[in-house]
Amino acid sequence: PERHVRVPVTTRDETGILATAFNELTERRARLEAQRKAMVSDIAHELRSPLTNIRGWLEVTRDGVVDPDPALLASLHEEALVLQRVIDDLQDLADADAGTLRLHREPVRADELLDQVAAAHRVAADAAGVTLRTTARGTPWLDADPVRMRQALGNLVSNALRYTPSGGTVTLAARRDGDDVVLEVTDTGTGIAPEDLPHVFDRFWRAEKSRSRRTGGSGLGLPIVRHLLAAHGGTAEATSEPGTGSVFTLRLPGGEPPKDT
Ligand code: ADP
Repeated sequence: PERHVRVPVTTRDETGILATAFNELTERRARLEAQRKAMVSDIAHELRSPLTNIRGWLEVTRDGVVDPDPALLASLHEEALVLQRVIDDLQDLADADAGTLRLHREPVRADELLDQVAAAHRVAADAAGVTLRTTARGTPWLDADPVRMRQALGNLVSNALRYTPSGGTVTLAARRDGDDVVLEVTDTGTGIAPEDLPHVFDRFWRAEKSRSRRTGGSGLGLPIVRHLLAAHGGTAEATSEPGTGSVFTLRLPGGEPPKDT
């Protein structure tokens, strides 16, 4: 392992200033290196779980323990989709880091966006016994990439459904606030502990209980939401009360209706 050298700072002259700067750089480098190592290990872990499942299914089929029937193929397909999602998410984050995430902006109605996202999650909501509803004040227009905004909202709704017990409600709301448009995903779920809240947008971060429960996420959903909003010149924030629920708020500059209507 690499050694991170610190030089003693003994004087307050130029040499002392240089020595201090050197030490700061060294510490920064050590920090980045530790982060990079942790990230590679997290990525390996995220790819390993679905791959282990696929391998397991293939091996029991090869050994004649189970028949290669449609149910088995469905399981394999499901795991392949998980792998695909982790890889797509990693690519999105890499693009965001490199500044090569391309947006295809157009005038988008926020209320229609919410309805599309709700429709896409209707089956999952019904299966979870959760009421999924949308509400909009007026017709707030955005100058946004509709695919990317659906992705961001979709991540929030998936989470909300995952952490909301049967009988609960997930609400998607849109409103204009001055020059901004505010989109909110509110759930009546488990909520997030105050000490966890500052970390939910960190890469690969999961609350301890969702980690052990293995609820299916990659821990990349919220970092991607935040990146997508930043690319739109907006922000993503969360507030929560454990036992009551959470609110995820997206704020981005409002747009104009298309000129030809
Ligand atoms: P994951 O793929 O694990 O969902 P995310 O980045 O989307 O990763 O979320 C990170 C963590 O934040 C989750 O594992 C969970 O602990 C917490 N979290 C996110 N959304 C909610 C929510 N609506 N209610 C409670 N906890 C949440």
